[in-house]
Amino acid sequence: MNPDFSEQRHQLVSFLRRYGVYNDAVLAAMERVPRDFFVEDAFLPYAYSNQALPLQLGQTISQPLMVGVMTQALYLEGHERVLEVGTGSGYQAAILSQLCAQVYSIERYAPLSEEAARRFKTLRIQNIALHVGDGTLGWPEHAPFDRIIVTAAAPHVPTRLASQLVPGGLMVVPVGEQLKQTLTIVKRTKDVEDGLQVQSLGDCIFVPLIGDDGW
Ligand code: SAM
Repeated sequence: MNPDFSEQRHQLVSFLRRYGVYNDAVLAAMERVPRDFFVEDAFLPYAYSNQALPLQLGQTISQPLMVGVMTQALYLEGHERVLEVGTGSGYQAAILSQLCAQVYSIERYAPLSEEAARRFKTLRIQNIALHVGDGTLGWPEHAPFDRIIVTAAAPHVPTRLASQLVPGGLMVVPVGEQLKQTLTIVKRTKDVEDGLQVQSLGDCIFVPLIGDDGW
């Protein structure tokens, strides 16, 4: 049982509001989901600082501000089916689970996926389906998705994933070099088949997306 972090969580949410997360539903979800459940024990004191923190196998739980900004960029209304690539700790998926109908999350490392599954069970979150494999291939059995969020850095806009979006669907993905990327919003247009509109949201730094359509 972790200590009561509700005051720290509240302070973090106030910080996020000051630094660009304006969507009340996203802020409420981040106030509800205990990030302390998703960090390694050694980093518990930093669970509510605005930092990416180490996970097993050289991976990271993303910075809370980045989680807020990426989630907000998906414009969720509650009815959506969302694909996440890069389950990691499960924190981002848990935030999404509060804001959409169903989350599908893929992770390449089985131990991370298993640990995330244990956390969802403890928190009684039931609308997240997990899969272990190469997320750059998407999850064809459940496609198309209303939204896709990629939480690792891609070398180019992952068009294979974009093809699993519904027409009009959105994908948020870091695109660029291994050490620095641009947070990118990709919209699959409604009228032109496979047409993609791409917009930049600013700089970011993520661990690499390793796979067939990644690094
Ligand atoms: N969303 C996570 C969270 O809330 O903790 C943070 C994800 S971490 C920054 C990136 C994750 O992407 C790592 O766990 C890494 O193993 C995973 N990853 C990298 N390439 C992948 C791929 N092709 N398919 C699935 N997962 C991948």
